[in-house]
Amino acid sequence: MVQQEYRFIRRKERLAVYPGSFDPVTNGHIDIIERSLKFIDKLIVSVTHHPTKKPLFSFKERMEMLQGVFRDRKEIVIEYFDGLLVDYLEKKGVFLVIRGLRAVSDFDYEFQMVLTNRRMLPRIETIFLTPKEEYLYLSSSAVKEIARLNGPVERFVPEIVAEKLREKHRS
Ligand code: ADP
Repeated sequence: MVQQEYRFIRRKERLAVYPGSFDPVTNGHIDIIERSLKFIDKLIVSVTHHPTKKPLFSFKERMEMLQGVFRDRKEIVIEYFDGLLVDYLEKKGVFLVIRGLRAVSDFDYEFQMVLTNRRMLPRIETIFLTPKEEYLYLSSSAVKEIARLNGPVERFVPEIVAEKLREKHRS
């Protein structure tokens, strides 16, 4: 009897936010996005600014690249926010955050962010995911440097992004 009734209970959608600069999105970010979708239903990829990094691409360009990469994927929503992550999360009513953890070098910064954000908004939980080994040392900064030197960026980013990088360095 109980088993039959389960069919009528609508399971709540599990939502999470993946914030980052995505300047530009790389195969490492994509790996983290796909991994998170194994246990959440909808991921909001939120483009924001980094307090110290000067971006190569505008908000609009970064969002357009992400939208191009995830076209036709209803479970992935691309947004942007300016300001504090905690304010953005509260406004959206989403309290689960996804972040990627590569080598030890990410740890200090990420740990500090989690604890600071938690102090401001105790409801937040952050899940750290580690990418496939080949992406462990991949970063947007490395990709930008390779592009600047006319290297083979297509190994590290989707074609839409590779094209945008080539365009940037042509102009
Ligand atoms: P931010 O400037 O906020 O760190 P990034 O776009 O550089 O934004 O990164 C967003 C998140 O994705 C961070 O948690 C970062 O550690 C993670 N990330 C970036 N590149 C990779 C990668 N190659 N593999 C796994 N996680 C990554």
